[in-house]
Amino acid sequence: MRDQDQAHGHLVVGMDLGTTHSLVAVVENGRPRVLRNAVGEVLTPSVVAIDGDAVVTGAAALARTTVAASETVTAFKRDMGSSKTYSIGDRTLTPIELSACVLRGLKDDAEAALGRAPDEAVISVPAYFNDLQRRATHQAAELAGLHVERLINEPTAAAIAFGLHQLEREQQVVVLDLGGGTFDVTVLEIIEEVIEIQSSAGDSRLGGEDFTQALAERFARHLQEQHHCTLEPASDAWARVLAACETAKKTLSRDGQGRITVNGLKLSEGRRRDVDLEISRQEAEALWQPILERIRGPIRRALRDAELNPSDVDEVLAVGGASRMPCFTALAEEIFGRTPASDHSVDEVVALGAALQAALKAGDAALDDLIVTDVAPFTLGVETVSMIGAQAIAGLFSPILERGTVIPASRVHTYSTVENRQTVIELKIYQGEHATCDRNLLIGSLTISDIPPRPAGEETIEVRFTYDLNGVLEVEVIVLSTCLKQDLVLEQSAGRLSAAELEQARSAMAGLKFHPRDALPNTTALARAEALHVEILGPPRQVLARAIAAFRSAIELQDAELIEVTRSELAGLVESFR
Ligand code: AMP
Repeated sequence: MRDQDQAHGHLVVGMDLGTTHSLVAVVENGRPRVLRNAVGEVLTPSVVAIDGDAVVTGAAALARTTVAASETVTAFKRDMGSSKTYSIGDRTLTPIELSACVLRGLKDDAEAALGRAPDEAVISVPAYFNDLQRRATHQAAELAGLHVERLINEPTAAAIAFGLHQLEREQQVVVLDLGGGTFDVTVLEIIEEVIEIQSSAGDSRLGGEDFTQALAERFARHLQEQHHCTLEPASDAWARVLAACETAKKTLSRDGQGRITVNGLKLSEGRRRDVDLEISRQEAEALWQPILERIRGPIRRALRDAELNPSDVDEVLAVGGASRMPCFTALAEEIFGRTPASDHSVDEVVALGAALQAALKAGDAALDDLIVTDVAPFTLGVETVSMIGAQAIAGLFSPILERGTVIPASRVHTYSTVENRQTVIELKIYQGEHATCDRNLLIGSLTISDIPPRPAGEETIEVRFTYDLNGVLEVEVIVLSTCLKQDLVLEQSAGRLSAAELEQARSAMAGLKFHPRDALPNTTALARAEALHVEILGPPRQVLARAIAAFRSAIELQDAELIEVTRSELAGLVESFR
């Protein structure tokens, strides 16, 4: 067995860039392990905040969401590949730049834990991420100064972590990954030490946050009914309600009863009051019913694509933080007639799988026998015009590479011109399953000019789609009569940075001041305590205020020993309120 030689050789780490939190892992002595961040935790919140003129990520940024909502950004993974931008403080950042900030933090954590910076990373993405979202992830890593060895589908990573222990048995496995913002279903088969991904389906806008949101909406109705007041969306007050609902949701996973408590809530009229709402698991599950129903769709689709019935499935693997919810497990049991297995911590399994994939690429002999295949999660094709009698019907989708094709794959189609002596073809590339292009996603376009004039209907161009292992598409067009070749450059798509924009973003990143990693334990302890101070009232608040003051004074005195003592007292106090 050969390990990655961390002292001298090539160091490749696995990174799980999650909607709510991210992790970094590495393989040592043939075993994957997650690495701890600056505050000694394995889960780093995927949150970015501006503190003064410095960028803060992770737990310190998360703690600021309830006290300075306008200076923090969360859940930006959902907007990867879109043209949305976020304003924080006086800056405007794209989802790519925000992801880059989180990845940079993970890279620094890996460097601190392993004694040297990783050379490369395998980064996980939801199987249902489209081409734009994958390219955006790639660019985020580049901005963070990471070389991406490979993008790996999250369920594939989970399957690797899981499959490794199960290789002796032949089995049909379904991976259900319910994260903060995305839901992925993957069907795979393990035969003779080969993991074959058979189908994937999912919803990139369905996850644990929706359950939290449903509780928050229930709380807002309660406020309206009982206190006749409304909450401003995107306000600090709303962020505090969401945080209270997040806690209640987790309590409801454990107990039959939960409580949404927000003290000193600033209402729209400027009044402050303590608001408390008891909620039973049964009541919450009734609120969540529409979300649970949406979970069935991707499961049905993935099974249908793999031509399986639920009873054909030998093992169901639940991963992602939100898969801890009993109503989710019950739904999986109802569909598959078996309890989902979760070998590892549901939060860590994807990062562990990504690290195993990294070691596999780095040539770890312990993993030589594992072969992983993957499939295209969507159909990819081009827009065409069809002649029905004398009428030209535009906007039709002509699939070239179908969903479920084992990748890497290359497929070619030939197209003809619609007009006599047509010399230019506008090729528009779409991804999706609908017959008309307007319902699919435009992922790029290419103008093919200098086509020799010919009569309409003659075979004119050959379009080749090549889908690589990262799920990234390359398009090549050949004009048949001249043998001229053109490659697609996806410059014009929104949500993806052009070469010039990437360069600009790179210098903007270099100009960003990052909060020093060494200071994060203090900043985080303080941010958590200050967030709690807003929450509580009465004597406990006074005790907390004193502990905060003592800690601040220790920092000011720069007395290392005193800082340690007061910080640990403060952290203990904050912990006692959880
Ligand atoms: P992930 O993207 O895998 O990090 O998933 C995070 C999601 O899992 C968030 O929406 C969390 O609220 C949710 N989550 C974590 N722990 C629990 C729990 N014990 N019960 C319910 N949801 C949870």
